[in-house]
Amino acid sequence: MACRAQEFSSNRWQWQLSHRIHTVDGLERYVRLTDDERIGIKAAGSRFRWAVTPYFASLMDPEDPDCPIRRQAIPSAAELEAGLDVAGLGDPLAEDSHSPVRGLVHKYPDRVIILATMQCAVFCRHCTRRRVVGQVDRVMTSKQFDACVDYIQGHEEVRDVLVTGGDPLLGSDAWLEGILSKLRVIPHVDILRVGTRVPVTLPQRVTQDLCDMLERYHPLWMNIHFNHAREITPEVAQACDRLTRAGIPLGSQTVLLRGVNDDRQTLLDLFHALVRIRVRPYYLYQCDIVRGTSHFWTPVERGVELVSSLRGYTTGFSVPTFVVDSPLGKVHVAPQNLLAREGSEIVLRGYTGETCRMYNPTS
Ligand SMILES: *Cc1c(COP(=O)(O)O)cnc(C)c1O
Repeated sequence: MACRAQEFSSNRWQWQLSHRIHTVDGLERYVRLTDDERIGIKAAGSRFRWAVTPYFASLMDPEDPDCPIRRQAIPSAAELEAGLDVAGLGDPLAEDSHSPVRGLVHKYPDRVIILATMQCAVFCRHCTRRRVVGQVDRVMTSKQFDACVDYIQGHEEVRDVLVTGGDPLLGSDAWLEGILSKLRVIPHVDILRVGTRVPVTLPQRVTQDLCDMLERYHPLWMNIHFNHAREITPEVAQACDRLTRAGIPLGSQTVLLRGVNDDRQTLLDLFHALVRIRVRPYYLYQCDIVRGTSHFWTPVERGVELVSSLRGYTTGFSVPTFVVDSPLGKVHVAPQNLLAREGSEIVLRGYTGETCRMYNPTS
């Protein structure tokens, strides 16, 4: 972490974006690259785009290739290994087939997501939408967005609209306000949500101006993609504090990643660091079976085990729900703690593994 803070001359988010690192030479100013990373950058980089903000690069451990920030942001040769990820799909969640209008996914009865941009500040190596994210640095055109608004207007059952991407916080304040204001006036749209990783990879973007704007569109909720306690720096804490003070409830979405966060203590440290900055751990995701990500995969049992190893041992709301996303939507996968039902009694298993019998009203 030697080069933290000195490396960038500006705290402006536009500077961070325009000075993103996307070459071996650029990255070598931050870390001592391994051969695997070099091969990954050369090859995978042309297939699945990579770029890192100077801020995020400054969090990398220069000497440790297993650094969780490096593993998430620097391509690895493993992204190319044919055969290993034969099961890897381009669109594992079948989003394209649930898209009645370009850029909108309607999979659940009462809510939709809008993929408002295809750009990100840092291109996560585990990205579930790598089939589309990063191809072009632009936001959805207003014509495309108007088609999404028309669709929602025609579907009164939609009460929750999640604006995601890509990353919607990479658009300008005026662009994002245009999106939110058009959604806010649809009478049956109850809540707006923003899905983003920018507070983690580019916290400078969370300006007071942005928060003042967002505050005008309540009820507005935000979910932020966090994967490791090392991502929670003073800059990130300040960004989250600003958002919280604007009345925005913050949740986190974490992807379970082999070698990054797939052990109990790492997750506990992350979830504790999140509740400390008033971010509620919302979902822990099984890593999607996306092409080029097989080096991050874990068996589904691992996620169940990890989450149940935390339940009861720490604050209830610091334990997220473990989900596997699928073409059918998110599936909650949890251990069965209702062991038996016998007449008017049930047998329950507590967090320590002990069991007890309790009365169960039969009707
Ligand atoms: C995740 C997701 C949502 C939101 O799901 P919640 O469980 O309400 O957070 C909505 N639509 C799609 C297509 C999604 O993938």
